[in-house]
Amino acid sequence: MAEVKTTGVITTLSRLVIREPLPGQDAGTCYICGEDTDSGHAGPPSDRFTAWAACTAGAVVCGYCWAMLKDQRFRSRSWVATLEGVNFELSRADLRRALVEPPEPPFAVYVTFGGKKQGWLSLMRRVSTSRRWYWIGTDIWDFPVPADVTAVRRFTDLVDELRSRDVPRWLLQADPSVRPRNHRLVHLKTIERAAREGWLERLEIARRERGNPLWEVVVRVSE
Ligand SMILES: [Zn+2]
Repeated sequence: MAEVKTTGVITTLSRLVIREPLPGQDAGTCYICGEDTDSGHAGPPSDRFTAWAACTAGAVVCGYCWAMLKDQRFRSRSWVATLEGVNFELSRADLRRALVEPPEPPFAVYVTFGGKKQGWLSLMRRVSTSRRWYWIGTDIWDFPVPADVTAVRRFTDLVDELRSRDVPRWLLQADPSVRPRNHRLVHLKTIERAAREGWLERLEIARRERGNPLWEVVVRVSE
């Protein structure tokens, strides 16, 4: 029988999302979530596991974290987890809705852009308990992004407005690798058009937000 630690308050992501832990034989402290267990797994979760920087001190992986690591959907998909379960089948619009109207707490939101890194590890001890401000896990940064829902809505409105004015998505992002070769010319033409049509100030606000992790997430999940 797997040991189940229930304190009434869910403090770790793996205990929020996993209903059926995969028990092992080894006692110790879980290096993924930091909880003690009698039925953990000694040794690395796989030969390809490389996310050691995200781990805490400990010698085993508990049955909950083991089950998460063995389910590739946590890495390859974006998802929203609540007490009702985990939704892995999110369109970009669904994901965006979850950010603007967060679900009933406790919950966790993970947004992947590459589908390769175990970026959700940063959420392990950051289960969200408020709809006013919450955490967003991503595979871009190895820290969870703090999200004030008022800022999320403000950013969403601004991104929508600028996208509807045909401002290219790359111009709203800090990442230089997404820029096309003629980016300087397009950038100048966009500034000229914004000045002519009276929305230059809106464009400037957006340009100043580039590099802000919350802004970058909102831009990426917008149409
Ligand atoms: Zn664990």
